[in-house]
Amino acid sequence: MFERSLLIDQLKHTKKWDVIIIGGGATGLGVALDCTTRGYKTLLLEQVDFAKGTSSRSTKLVHGGVRYLAQGHIDLVKEALHERGLMLKNASHLVGNQPFIIPNYKWWDKWFYTLGLKVYDFLAGKLSFGKSMGISKSETVNRLSTVRKDKLKGGVVYHDGQFDDARLAVNIAQTAIENGATLLNHFKVKNLTKDEKNLVNGIIAIDTETLKEYELSGRTIINATGVFTDEILKMDNQHAEDKIRPSQGIHLVLDRSFLPGNDAIMIPKTDDGRVLFLVPWHDRVVVGTTDTLLDSHSLEPKPLKEEINFILDTANKYLNKHVTKDDVLSIFAGLRPLAAPKDKSEKTKEISRSHKIIVSNSELITITGGKWTTYRKMAQDTVDKMINLKNLQQRDCKTEDLLIHGANGTVDKSNRLFFYGTDKYGIQKLIDEDPTLAEPLHPRLEFTKAEVVWSIKNEMARTIEDVLARRVRVLFLDAKAAIEISPYVGEVLRKELNQTDEWRQIQISEFLTVADQYVLK
Ligand SMILES: Cc1cc2nc3c(=O)[nH]c(=O)nc-3n(C[C@H](O)[C@H](O)[C@H](O)COP(=O)(O)OP(=O)(O)OC[C@H]3O[C@@H](n4cnc5c(N)ncnc54)[C@H](O)[C@@H]3O)c2cc1C
Repeated sequence: MFERSLLIDQLKHTKKWDVIIIGGGATGLGVALDCTTRGYKTLLLEQVDFAKGTSSRSTKLVHGGVRYLAQGHIDLVKEALHERGLMLKNASHLVGNQPFIIPNYKWWDKWFYTLGLKVYDFLAGKLSFGKSMGISKSETVNRLSTVRKDKLKGGVVYHDGQFDDARLAVNIAQTAIENGATLLNHFKVKNLTKDEKNLVNGIIAIDTETLKEYELSGRTIINATGVFTDEILKMDNQHAEDKIRPSQGIHLVLDRSFLPGNDAIMIPKTDDGRVLFLVPWHDRVVVGTTDTLLDSHSLEPKPLKEEINFILDTANKYLNKHVTKDDVLSIFAGLRPLAAPKDKSEKTKEISRSHKIIVSNSELITITGGKWTTYRKMAQDTVDKMINLKNLQQRDCKTEDLLIHGANGTVDKSNRLFFYGTDKYGIQKLIDEDPTLAEPLHPRLEFTKAEVVWSIKNEMARTIEDVLARRVRVLFLDAKAAIEISPYVGEVLRKELNQTDEWRQIQISEFLTVADQYVLK
């Protein structure tokens, strides 16, 4: 079902798509799933890989946004808290309930944050993740053994969601395909086509593996390309104004010894007024993030020196275990597709984080902004907009109760493969057939060789980076280990995809170029 050749066959056999979606991040994937489950003939094309852009580089939180509550964006927070509850229900294998502790160093902080978080709990309504409450200094120290104790007054506990972003993206892609859509990674949209009334009626795309070009026609074209939004808008109208200003956020990944318990840390106000999280993730700790407006965007944004120093300095203010550059297992940067500010004085913290749907004169629909947590609602709003714009018969959204591939409502975290959901049985079967696949990929890694084979056979991974960055998340967890195992992964790919040794060598060298940036030097 997920075989590339079968998906490409569908391109050849479909004369006209109801919807063509450009971009396979959280936003595009959500739209594809919504469209296909409402019965529209749906195609999604992603230039590199599902979640290659921002959607694999988040802080891994499924959250209402405590920070937005402090800024008074009640509706935004309420909507996100509702979506948080749905994500936990529909993708329980990948989304977990994560307790956070805000350590307090001033006596009034405890009351201030407890009160604010009670409002957060209230806004979550029936989909609450658990009650917020103030805790004593001794309980804070018990739960956060590495927190700085000097002048500590106590803490406030609250609950939010935590997830694996790129794995959820892949599972949403699979769900969309299982529901009749066609989704292809490594397929870049190069241009739009128009009819005699100057309305968009299709796209020209290239299969970046074979370099074969396709002209495909569609009734509606949806631009869901994140920080690449303006490039598509300029294909539509070369004089189109820029709508997006990228804002970079970076994360450092540390060993679990820096935060050994079950709780995450939230620092609500760093020296420059931002929020910093330290979150347990795949038995490591993700620390971030920053918010730096940039003038340009790229597929592999580069962390800035100031951003790295800011995170190290801030973490060291709150931890009694000193973090140095040598402790960083991986570093990654992502770009928020923020609405371009109206004037240069507007700060990133003030730019709206809600999503925006733009309809061009050519009827190209663009969806941008928002956050991972609200991907489903963003999709619903986009498809409703399409129905109105094209005067289509109303068809209700089906995704509120739709289980995502792998979810079956139960999660047994004692099984290491729990985040594959029901696919864990498939991985176990591979190991039963070939017990050598149970071997770890690397002495420092818990992931097995079977997971690499699984990702190629069943999860549409086509390159070493697809496997090691977005299926088995080694590049984000231990970049040096990822580099060391890349020749092995290249060999498995070569065999599974029937490729040559020369292809494998190119693969390895391309991966090493990307991976080098994830190692902090
Ligand atoms: C640092 C940081 C931390 C964040 N943390 C959180 C968090 O903890 N929780 C949360 O809810 N949200 C978080 N967010 C927000 C969230 O990650 C983004 O809102 C979301 O991932 C954006 O998804 P997207 O699909 O719009 O963009 P992207 O994921 O960037 O997807 C766009 C895709 O379009 C593709 N594309 C571009 N041009 C073409 C073309 N011509 N043809 C085909 N494909 C094309 C790109 O390759 C890309 O994959 C964070 C964001 C950042 C930057």
